[in-house]
Amino acid sequence: MALRFFNTYSRELEEFGPSDPSTRPIKMYTCGPTIYSRAHIGNFRAYIFEDLLQRHLELRGYKIHRVMNITDVEDKTIRGAREAGVPLQKFTEQFKHAFFDDAQTLRIKPADEYPAATNQRYIDRMIELISALISKGLAYQADDKSVYFRINKFPDYGKLAHFDLTQLQSTGRVKHDEYDKEHIGDFALWKAWDEEDGNVKWASPWGPGRPGWHIECSAMSMALLGDQIDIHCGGVDNIFPHHEAEIAQSEGVTGKKFVRYWLHCAHLLVDGQKMAKSLGNFYTVPDVVAKGYTGRELRYALLRVHYRVPLNFTWQGMNEARESLMRIDEWLTRLREVAGMPHRGVRSPQRADPALQFENALDDDLNISAALGFLFESIRETNRALDQNDMDTVSANAWLSWWKRINSVLDVEAETDLAIPHEVAQLGDERENARRERNWKRSDELRERISALGWEVRDTKDGPKLTRGAKRA
Ligand code: AMP
Ligand code: ZN
Repeated sequence: MALRFFNTYSRELEEFGPSDPSTRPIKMYTCGPTIYSRAHIGNFRAYIFEDLLQRHLELRGYKIHRVMNITDVEDKTIRGAREAGVPLQKFTEQFKHAFFDDAQTLRIKPADEYPAATNQRYIDRMIELISALISKGLAYQADDKSVYFRINKFPDYGKLAHFDLTQLQSTGRVKHDEYDKEHIGDFALWKAWDEEDGNVKWASPWGPGRPGWHIECSAMSMALLGDQIDIHCGGVDNIFPHHEAEIAQSEGVTGKKFVRYWLHCAHLLVDGQKMAKSLGNFYTVPDVVAKGYTGRELRYALLRVHYRVPLNFTWQGMNEARESLMRIDEWLTRLREVAGMPHRGVRSPQRADPALQFENALDDDLNISAALGFLFESIRETNRALDQNDMDTVSANAWLSWWKRINSVLDVEAETDLAIPHEVAQLGDERENARRERNWKRSDELRERISALGWEVRDTKDGPKLTRGAKRA
Protein backbone atom coordinates (compact mmCIF):
# COMPACT_ATOMS: atom_id res chain seq x y z
CA MET A 1 0.00 0.00 0.00
CA ALA A 2 1.20 3.50 -0.74
CA LEU A 3 2.17 5.70 2.15
CA ARG A 4 -0.57 8.20 2.91
CA PHE A 5 -1.32 10.79 5.55
CA PHE A 6 -4.24 12.98 6.50
CA ASN A 7 -3.34 16.50 5.44
CA THR A 8 -5.01 19.12 7.63
CA TYR A 9 -4.83 21.59 4.75
CA SER A 10 -7.01 19.53 2.39
CA ARG A 11 -8.75 17.53 5.14
CA GLU A 12 -8.04 14.47 3.04
CA LEU A 13 -5.87 11.40 3.08
CA GLU A 14 -3.14 12.10 0.55
CA GLU A 15 -0.49 9.86 -0.89
CA PHE A 16 2.93 10.81 0.40
CA GLY A 17 5.77 11.48 -2.04
CA PRO A 18 8.40 11.91 -3.36
CA SER A 19 7.98 8.32 -4.39
CA ASP A 20 11.72 7.78 -4.63
CA PRO A 21 12.99 8.03 -1.08
CA SER A 22 16.58 8.38 -2.19
CA THR A 23 16.10 11.70 -3.99
CA ARG A 24 16.60 13.99 -1.00
CA PRO A 25 15.95 14.20 2.73
CA ILE A 26 12.41 14.97 3.83
CA LYS A 27 12.29 18.39 5.46
CA MET A 28 10.28 18.19 8.64
CA TYR A 29 9.49 21.02 11.04
CA THR A 30 7.93 20.34 14.43
CA CYS A 31 6.82 23.12 16.75
CA GLY A 32 8.70 22.66 20.00
CA PRO A 33 8.16 23.59 23.61
CA THR A 34 7.65 27.02 25.09
CA ILE A 35 10.12 26.81 27.93
CA TYR A 36 8.40 28.73 30.73
CA SER A 37 7.73 25.57 32.76
CA ARG A 38 8.25 21.83 32.48
CA ALA A 39 6.40 20.34 29.50
CA HIS A 40 3.47 18.08 30.50
CA ILE A 41 2.74 14.64 29.07
CA GLY A 42 0.09 16.15 26.76
CA ASN A 43 2.89 18.04 25.01
CA PHE A 44 4.82 14.80 24.86
CA ARG A 45 1.94 13.06 23.14
CA ALA A 46 2.57 15.48 20.27
CA TYR A 47 6.33 14.85 20.30
CA ILE A 48 5.86 11.07 20.46
CA PHE A 49 3.49 11.17 17.48
CA GLU A 50 6.14 13.13 15.54
CA ASP A 51 8.75 10.59 16.63
CA LEU A 52 6.58 7.74 15.35
CA LEU A 53 6.11 9.57 12.05
CA GLN A 54 9.84 10.14 11.62
CA ARG A 55 10.76 6.58 12.54
CA HIS A 56 8.19 5.07 10.20
CA LEU A 57 9.37 7.22 7.31
CA GLU A 58 12.91 6.07 8.08
CA LEU A 59 11.78 2.46 8.12
CA ARG A 60 10.38 3.11 4.64
CA GLY A 61 13.76 4.34 3.47
CA TYR A 62 13.36 8.10 3.71
CA LYS A 63 16.05 10.30 5.18
CA ILE A 64 14.64 12.96 7.47
CA HIS A 65 16.00 16.36 8.32
CA ARG A 66 14.01 17.48 11.33
CA VAL A 67 14.02 20.85 13.04
CA MET A 68 12.31 21.53 16.36
CA ASN A 69 12.27 25.09 17.61
CA ILE A 70 12.58 26.13 21.21
CA THR A 71 10.35 29.08 22.06
CA ASP A 72 12.32 30.94 24.69
CA VAL A 73 10.83 34.39 24.26
CA GLU A 74 7.10 35.20 24.42
CA ASP A 75 4.72 36.56 27.04
CA LYS A 76 4.92 33.59 29.42
CA THR A 77 8.71 33.23 29.49
CA ILE A 78 9.09 36.98 30.08
CA ARG A 79 6.52 36.97 32.87
CA GLY A 80 8.14 33.90 34.47
CA ALA A 81 11.61 35.47 34.46
CA ARG A 82 10.26 38.72 35.88
CA GLU A 83 8.43 36.92 38.69
CA ALA A 84 11.49 34.80 39.48
CA GLY A 85 13.70 37.92 39.40
CA VAL A 86 16.26 36.31 37.06
CA PRO A 87 17.42 37.07 33.51
CA LEU A 88 15.30 35.49 30.76
CA GLN A 89 17.95 33.02 29.67
CA LYS A 90 18.65 31.83 33.18
CA PHE A 91 14.94 31.29 33.70
CA THR A 92 14.34 29.32 30.49
CA GLU A 93 17.54 27.25 30.65
CA GLN A 94 16.23 24.97 33.43
CA PHE A 95 13.12 24.06 31.41
CA LYS A 96 15.15 23.44 28.30
CA HIS A 97 17.27 20.91 30.21
CA ALA A 98 14.13 19.36 31.69
CA PHE A 99 12.66 19.04 28.19
CA PHE A 100 15.72 17.20 26.88
CA ASP A 101 15.79 14.92 29.95
CA ASP A 102 12.13 14.01 29.53
CA ALA A 103 12.47 13.48 25.79
CA GLN A 104 15.32 11.07 26.50
CA THR A 105 13.30 9.23 29.15
CA LEU A 106 10.59 8.78 26.52
CA ARG A 107 13.12 7.64 23.91
CA ILE A 108 12.22 10.41 21.49
CA LYS A 109 14.83 10.68 18.76
CA PRO A 110 16.63 14.00 18.92
CA ALA A 111 15.89 16.46 16.12
CA ASP A 112 18.77 17.45 13.85
CA GLU A 113 18.51 21.04 15.02
CA TYR A 114 16.94 22.90 17.94
CA PRO A 115 17.02 26.59 17.02
CA ALA A 116 16.15 29.03 19.82
CA ALA A 117 14.15 32.13 19.02
CA THR A 118 16.47 34.46 20.95
CA ASN A 119 19.47 33.62 18.78
CA GLN A 120 20.45 36.88 17.04
CA ARG A 121 20.79 35.02 13.75
CA TYR A 122 17.05 34.24 13.81
CA ILE A 123 16.02 37.62 15.23
CA ASP A 124 17.75 39.16 12.18
CA ARG A 125 15.85 36.80 9.95
CA MET A 126 12.54 37.71 11.61
CA ILE A 127 13.26 41.40 11.09
CA GLU A 128 14.01 40.72 7.41
CA LEU A 129 10.72 38.84 6.99
CA ILE A 130 8.72 41.58 8.71
CA SER A 131 10.37 44.27 6.55
CA ALA A 132 9.50 42.29 3.42
CA LEU A 133 5.87 41.93 4.57
CA ILE A 134 5.61 45.67 5.22
CA SER A 135 7.02 46.51 1.81
CA LYS A 136 4.43 44.22 0.21
CA GLY A 137 1.59 45.90 2.09
CA LEU A 138 0.97 42.75 4.12
CA ALA A 139 1.99 44.31 7.43
CA TYR A 140 1.78 47.68 9.13
CA GLN A 141 3.01 49.45 12.23
CA ALA A 142 0.14 50.53 14.46
CA ASP A 143 -0.11 53.46 16.88
CA ASP A 144 1.12 51.28 19.72
CA LYS A 145 4.38 50.91 17.72
CA SER A 146 3.87 47.17 17.27
CA VAL A 147 3.83 45.65 13.79
CA TYR A 148 0.84 43.54 12.72
CA PHE A 149 0.07 41.22 9.84
CA ARG A 150 -2.79 42.54 7.69
CA ILE A 151 -4.91 39.41 7.24
CA ASN A 152 -7.34 41.08 4.82
CA LYS A 153 -4.53 41.36 2.28
CA PHE A 154 -3.79 37.64 2.32
CA PRO A 155 -6.72 35.90 0.60
CA ASP A 156 -5.67 32.40 1.72
CA TYR A 157 -5.83 33.34 5.40
CA GLY A 158 -8.10 30.80 7.11
CA LYS A 159 -7.57 28.00 4.57
CA LEU A 160 -5.65 25.70 6.90
CA ALA A 161 -8.13 26.04 9.75
CA HIS A 162 -11.06 26.16 7.30
CA PHE A 163 -12.10 29.38 8.98
CA ASP A 164 -14.28 32.21 7.85
CA LEU A 165 -12.48 35.52 8.53
CA THR A 166 -15.65 37.18 9.71
CA GLN A 167 -15.82 34.74 12.63
CA LEU A 168 -12.42 35.67 13.98
CA GLN A 169 -12.14 36.46 17.66
CA SER A 170 -9.18 37.66 19.66
CA THR A 171 -6.81 34.76 20.25
CA GLY A 172 -5.50 35.79 23.64
CA ARG A 173 -1.91 35.63 22.40
CA VAL A 174 -2.02 39.28 21.36
CA LYS A 175 -0.97 41.42 24.23
CA HIS A 176 -1.55 44.92 22.96
CA ASP A 177 -4.73 46.90 22.74
CA GLU A 178 -7.06 45.45 20.12
CA TYR A 179 -8.08 48.95 18.99
CA ASP A 180 -4.64 49.64 17.54
CA LYS A 181 -5.24 47.01 14.89
CA GLU A 182 -7.12 47.32 11.61
CA HIS A 183 -8.79 43.93 12.03
CA ILE A 184 -9.32 41.97 15.22
CA GLY A 185 -7.62 38.97 13.60
CA ASP A 186 -4.43 40.85 12.68
CA PHE A 187 -1.64 39.28 14.66
CA ALA A 188 1.56 40.78 16.04
CA LEU A 189 4.78 40.26 14.11
CA TRP A 190 6.81 42.61 16.29
CA LYS A 191 5.75 43.65 19.77
CA ALA A 192 6.90 47.10 20.86
CA TRP A 193 8.83 47.13 24.12
CA ASP A 194 6.97 48.11 27.27
CA GLU A 195 8.04 48.32 30.90
CA GLU A 196 6.89 44.82 31.74
CA ASP A 197 9.43 43.43 29.28
CA GLY A 198 12.31 44.74 31.44
CA ASN A 199 15.56 44.31 29.57
CA VAL A 200 14.14 41.77 27.09
CA LYS A 201 14.34 43.74 23.86
CA TRP A 202 16.05 43.87 20.50
CA ALA A 203 16.67 46.82 18.22
CA SER A 204 14.58 46.95 15.03
CA PRO A 205 13.56 49.47 12.34
CA TRP A 206 10.30 49.89 14.31
CA GLY A 207 11.96 50.62 17.63
CA PRO A 208 12.96 48.29 20.48
CA GLY A 209 10.80 45.23 20.96
CA ARG A 210 10.59 41.50 20.49
CA PRO A 211 9.18 39.11 17.93
CA GLY A 212 5.68 37.65 18.00
CA TRP A 213 5.45 33.89 18.51
CA HIS A 214 4.33 33.04 14.97
CA ILE A 215 7.14 34.83 13.12
CA GLU A 216 9.68 32.84 15.18
CA CYS A 217 8.64 29.59 13.52
CA SER A 218 8.46 31.05 10.01
CA ALA A 219 11.95 32.51 10.35
CA MET A 220 13.56 29.45 11.88
CA SER A 221 12.02 26.95 9.48
CA MET A 222 12.93 29.10 6.48
CA ALA A 223 16.46 29.71 7.77
CA LEU A 224 17.16 26.03 8.30
CA LEU A 225 14.95 24.22 5.80
CA GLY A 226 14.42 26.75 3.01
CA ASP A 227 11.27 28.34 1.58
CA GLN A 228 9.38 25.05 1.20
CA ILE A 229 9.13 22.15 3.60
CA ASP A 230 7.63 18.70 3.28
CA ILE A 231 6.00 18.06 6.64
CA HIS A 232 4.97 20.39 9.42
CA CYS A 233 3.48 18.99 12.63
CA GLY A 234 2.03 19.97 15.97
CA GLY A 235 -0.99 19.43 18.16
CA VAL A 236 -4.42 20.46 16.85
CA ASP A 237 -4.36 23.59 19.02
CA ASN A 238 -1.47 24.81 16.84
CA ILE A 239 -3.61 24.90 13.69
CA PHE A 240 -5.12 28.25 14.55
CA PRO A 241 -3.77 30.82 14.87
CA HIS A 242 -0.17 29.61 14.94
CA HIS A 243 0.16 27.54 11.78
CA GLU A 244 -2.31 29.66 9.85
CA ALA A 245 -0.11 32.65 10.68
CA GLU A 246 3.06 30.79 9.66
CA ILE A 247 1.57 30.14 6.22
CA ALA A 248 0.53 33.80 5.82
CA GLN A 249 3.96 35.08 6.82
CA SER A 250 6.07 32.64 4.82
CA GLU A 251 3.94 32.56 1.68
CA GLY A 252 3.40 36.31 1.97
CA VAL A 253 7.15 36.79 1.57
CA THR A 254 8.06 34.03 -0.90
CA GLY A 255 4.86 33.55 -2.92
CA LYS A 256 5.60 29.80 -2.80
CA LYS A 257 3.69 27.02 -1.09
CA PHE A 258 5.22 26.80 2.39
CA VAL A 259 4.28 23.25 3.49
CA ARG A 260 3.27 20.15 1.50
CA TYR A 261 1.76 18.09 4.33
CA TRP A 262 0.30 19.44 7.55
CA LEU A 263 -0.13 16.77 10.23
CA HIS A 264 -1.73 17.45 13.61
CA CYS A 265 -2.34 15.16 16.55
CA ALA A 266 -5.42 15.15 18.75
CA HIS A 267 -5.09 16.05 22.40
CA LEU A 268 -4.27 14.07 25.44
CA LEU A 269 -7.27 14.46 27.72
CA VAL A 270 -7.95 14.15 31.42
CA ASP A 271 -11.58 13.39 32.27
CA GLY A 272 -12.58 14.46 28.79
CA GLN A 273 -10.77 17.83 28.93
CA LYS A 274 -7.53 18.84 27.20
CA MET A 275 -4.52 18.34 29.46
CA ALA A 276 -3.20 21.88 29.83
CA LYS A 277 -1.07 24.00 32.11
CA SER A 278 -3.81 26.57 32.35
CA LEU A 279 -6.36 24.01 33.58
CA GLY A 280 -4.00 22.57 36.19
CA ASN A 281 -4.99 19.02 35.16
CA PHE A 282 -1.56 17.92 34.00
CA TYR A 283 1.19 15.47 34.86
CA THR A 284 4.83 15.79 33.94
CA VAL A 285 7.11 12.88 33.04
CA PRO A 286 8.69 12.92 36.54
CA ASP A 287 5.17 12.84 38.08
CA VAL A 288 4.46 9.60 36.21
CA VAL A 289 7.89 8.13 37.01
CA ALA A 290 7.34 8.97 40.70
CA LYS A 291 4.27 6.70 40.57
CA GLY A 292 6.55 3.79 39.68
CA TYR A 293 6.19 3.74 35.89
CA THR A 294 9.10 3.68 33.49
CA GLY A 295 9.71 5.96 30.54
CA ARG A 296 9.06 3.18 28.08
CA GLU A 297 5.72 2.38 29.74
CA LEU A 298 4.67 6.00 29.38
CA ARG A 299 5.98 6.06 25.81
CA TYR A 300 3.86 3.03 24.98
CA ALA A 301 0.77 4.48 26.72
CA LEU A 302 1.03 7.69 24.66
CA LEU A 303 1.87 5.88 21.45
CA ARG A 304 -0.71 3.13 21.28
CA VAL A 305 -3.72 5.17 20.13
CA HIS A 306 -4.05 6.62 16.63
CA TYR A 307 -2.68 10.16 16.60
CA ARG A 308 -5.91 11.71 15.32
CA VAL A 309 -8.01 10.17 18.09
CA PRO A 310 -8.19 11.98 21.44
CA LEU A 311 -6.57 9.89 24.16
CA ASN A 312 -7.80 9.94 27.73
CA PHE A 313 -4.96 9.63 30.22
CA THR A 314 -5.70 7.23 33.11
CA TRP A 315 -3.62 5.13 35.50
CA GLN A 316 -5.60 2.15 34.28
CA GLY A 317 -4.21 2.96 30.81
CA MET A 318 -0.69 3.02 32.27
CA ASN A 319 -1.24 -0.44 33.79
CA GLU A 320 -2.49 -1.75 30.46
CA ALA A 321 0.64 -0.38 28.81
CA ARG A 322 2.73 -2.19 31.42
CA GLU A 323 0.92 -5.47 30.79
CA SER A 324 1.35 -5.18 27.03
CA LEU A 325 5.07 -4.60 27.43
CA MET A 326 5.36 -7.55 29.80
CA ARG A 327 3.85 -9.73 27.10
CA ILE A 328 6.38 -8.45 24.59
CA ASP A 329 9.24 -8.99 27.08
CA GLU A 330 8.21 -12.55 27.87
CA TRP A 331 7.79 -13.35 24.19
CA LEU A 332 11.27 -12.03 23.40
CA THR A 333 12.81 -13.99 26.25
CA ARG A 334 11.24 -17.18 24.93
CA LEU A 335 12.26 -16.50 21.35
CA ARG A 336 15.83 -15.67 22.36
CA GLU A 337 16.09 -18.89 24.25
CA VAL A 338 15.14 -20.94 21.20
CA ALA A 339 17.22 -18.74 18.90
CA GLY A 340 20.28 -19.40 21.08
CA MET A 341 19.87 -23.19 20.93
CA PRO A 342 21.88 -24.60 18.06
CA HIS A 343 19.98 -26.82 15.61
CA ARG A 344 16.78 -27.08 17.49
CA GLY A 345 14.35 -28.90 15.22
CA VAL A 346 13.90 -28.04 11.58
CA ARG A 347 10.49 -26.72 10.78
CA SER A 348 9.07 -24.59 8.10
CA PRO A 349 9.34 -20.88 8.98
CA GLN A 350 6.30 -19.19 10.51
CA ARG A 351 4.17 -17.24 8.13
CA ALA A 352 5.49 -13.76 7.49
CA ASP A 353 2.23 -11.88 6.78
CA PRO A 354 1.95 -10.16 10.15
CA ALA A 355 5.34 -8.62 9.51
CA LEU A 356 4.04 -6.94 6.40
CA GLN A 357 0.71 -6.12 7.99
CA PHE A 358 2.37 -4.16 10.79
CA GLU A 359 4.25 -1.92 8.37
CA ASN A 360 1.31 -1.60 5.98
CA ALA A 361 -0.91 -0.46 8.84
CA LEU A 362 1.54 2.33 9.61
CA ASP A 363 1.62 3.29 5.93
CA ASP A 364 -2.08 3.98 6.30
CA ASP A 365 -1.87 7.32 8.13
CA LEU A 366 0.14 5.76 10.99
CA ASN A 367 -2.57 3.35 12.05
CA ILE A 368 -0.74 2.26 15.17
CA SER A 369 -3.74 0.52 16.78
CA ALA A 370 -4.05 -1.81 13.80
CA ALA A 371 -0.27 -2.30 13.70
CA LEU A 372 -0.17 -3.27 17.38
CA GLY A 373 -3.14 -5.58 16.80
CA PHE A 374 -1.04 -7.47 14.25
CA LEU A 375 1.94 -7.52 16.59
CA PHE A 376 -0.06 -9.13 19.40
CA GLU A 377 -1.69 -11.57 17.01
CA SER A 378 1.81 -12.66 15.97
CA ILE A 379 2.85 -12.97 19.59
CA ARG A 380 -0.15 -15.19 20.31
CA GLU A 381 0.64 -17.38 17.33
CA THR A 382 4.32 -17.78 18.04
CA ASN A 383 3.69 -18.41 21.74
CA ARG A 384 1.39 -21.23 20.73
CA ALA A 385 4.14 -22.67 18.54
CA LEU A 386 6.63 -22.28 21.39
CA ASP A 387 4.24 -24.03 23.80
CA GLN A 388 4.02 -26.96 21.41
CA ASN A 389 7.78 -27.07 20.89
CA ASP A 390 7.02 -26.26 17.31
CA MET A 391 9.53 -23.47 16.77
CA ASP A 392 12.94 -24.08 15.26
CA THR A 393 16.04 -21.94 15.60
CA VAL A 394 15.75 -20.42 12.15
CA SER A 395 12.14 -19.32 12.70
CA ALA A 396 12.93 -17.90 16.13
CA ASN A 397 15.74 -15.85 14.63
CA ALA A 398 13.48 -14.67 11.82
CA TRP A 399 10.93 -13.46 14.35
CA LEU A 400 13.66 -11.67 16.29
CA SER A 401 14.88 -9.90 13.13
CA TRP A 402 11.32 -8.88 12.42
CA TRP A 403 11.02 -7.53 15.96
CA LYS A 404 14.21 -5.52 15.50
CA ARG A 405 12.65 -3.80 12.51
CA ILE A 406 9.41 -3.11 14.34
CA ASN A 407 11.22 -1.90 17.41
CA SER A 408 13.12 0.64 15.32
CA VAL A 409 9.72 2.33 15.10
CA LEU A 410 8.23 1.51 18.50
CA ASP A 411 11.40 1.66 20.59
CA VAL A 412 9.81 -0.03 23.57
CA GLU A 413 12.19 -2.89 24.24
CA ALA A 414 13.42 -3.37 27.81
CA GLU A 415 17.02 -2.45 28.38
CA THR A 416 18.76 -5.79 28.50
CA ASP A 417 22.47 -5.68 29.10
CA LEU A 418 22.16 -5.14 32.83
CA ALA A 419 24.82 -6.61 35.06
CA ILE A 420 23.38 -9.32 37.29
CA PRO A 421 23.44 -8.00 40.86
CA HIS A 422 25.64 -9.95 43.28
CA GLU A 423 22.70 -10.97 45.47
CA VAL A 424 20.78 -12.36 42.49
CA ALA A 425 23.82 -14.26 41.20
CA GLN A 426 24.35 -15.78 44.64
CA LEU A 427 20.72 -16.92 44.89
CA GLY A 428 21.11 -18.39 41.41
CA ASP A 429 24.12 -20.46 42.56
CA GLU A 430 22.27 -21.64 45.67
CA ARG A 431 19.32 -22.69 43.56
CA GLU A 432 21.54 -24.64 41.24
CA ASN A 433 23.04 -26.48 44.22
CA ALA A 434 19.54 -27.25 45.51
CA ARG A 435 18.60 -28.63 42.11
CA ARG A 436 21.67 -30.84 41.98
CA GLU A 437 20.64 -32.19 45.38
CA ARG A 438 17.15 -32.69 43.96
CA ASN A 439 15.76 -30.43 46.68
CA TRP A 440 12.91 -29.12 44.53
CA LYS A 441 11.14 -27.33 47.34
CA ARG A 442 14.20 -25.24 48.16
CA SER A 443 14.90 -24.71 44.47
CA ASP A 444 11.38 -23.31 44.01
CA GLU A 445 11.71 -21.05 47.04
CA LEU A 446 14.93 -19.63 45.67
CA ARG A 447 13.32 -19.07 42.29
CA GLU A 448 10.61 -17.04 44.08
CA ARG A 449 13.21 -14.93 45.89
CA ILE A 450 15.02 -14.27 42.62
CA SER A 451 11.75 -13.30 41.02
CA ALA A 452 10.93 -10.93 43.91
CA LEU A 453 14.15 -9.10 43.06
CA GLY A 454 12.91 -8.62 39.49
CA TRP A 455 14.92 -11.44 37.87
CA GLU A 456 13.99 -14.68 36.30
CA VAL A 457 15.84 -17.97 36.22
CA ARG A 458 15.33 -20.36 33.33
CA ASP A 459 16.81 -23.80 32.94
CA THR A 460 18.20 -24.31 29.49
CA LYS A 461 20.14 -27.23 28.14
CA ASP A 462 23.31 -25.15 28.64
CA GLY A 463 22.46 -24.67 32.31
CA PRO A 464 20.48 -22.04 34.24
CA LYS A 465 20.22 -18.54 32.79
CA LEU A 466 19.34 -15.37 34.70
CA THR A 467 17.41 -12.68 32.84
CA ARG A 468 15.75 -9.52 33.99
CA GLY A 469 12.13 -10.45 34.77
CA ALA A 470 9.35 -8.68 32.97
CA LYS A 471 7.87 -7.31 36.19
CA ARG A 472 10.70 -4.93 36.84
CA ALA A 473 11.52 -4.06 33.27
P1 AMP B 1 3.19 24.61 23.65
O1 AMP B 1 4.41 24.50 24.52
O2 AMP B 1 1.94 25.02 24.39
O3 AMP B 1 3.44 25.47 22.42
O4 AMP B 1 2.87 23.14 23.11
C1 AMP B 1 3.84 22.31 22.53
C2 AMP B 1 3.18 21.23 21.69
O5 AMP B 1 2.33 20.40 22.49
C3 AMP B 1 2.29 21.78 20.59
O6 AMP B 1 2.48 20.99 19.43
C4 AMP B 1 0.88 21.60 21.14
O7 AMP B 1 -0.07 21.50 20.11
C5 AMP B 1 1.03 20.30 21.89
N1 AMP B 1 0.05 20.09 22.98
C6 AMP B 1 -0.27 20.93 23.98
N2 AMP B 1 -1.19 20.38 24.83
C7 AMP B 1 -1.46 19.14 24.32
C8 AMP B 1 -2.31 18.04 24.72
N3 AMP B 1 -3.08 18.10 25.82
N4 AMP B 1 -2.31 16.93 23.97
C9 AMP B 1 -1.53 16.84 22.86
N5 AMP B 1 -0.70 17.81 22.43
C10 AMP B 1 -0.66 18.96 23.14
ZN1 ZN C 1 5.63 26.83 15.67
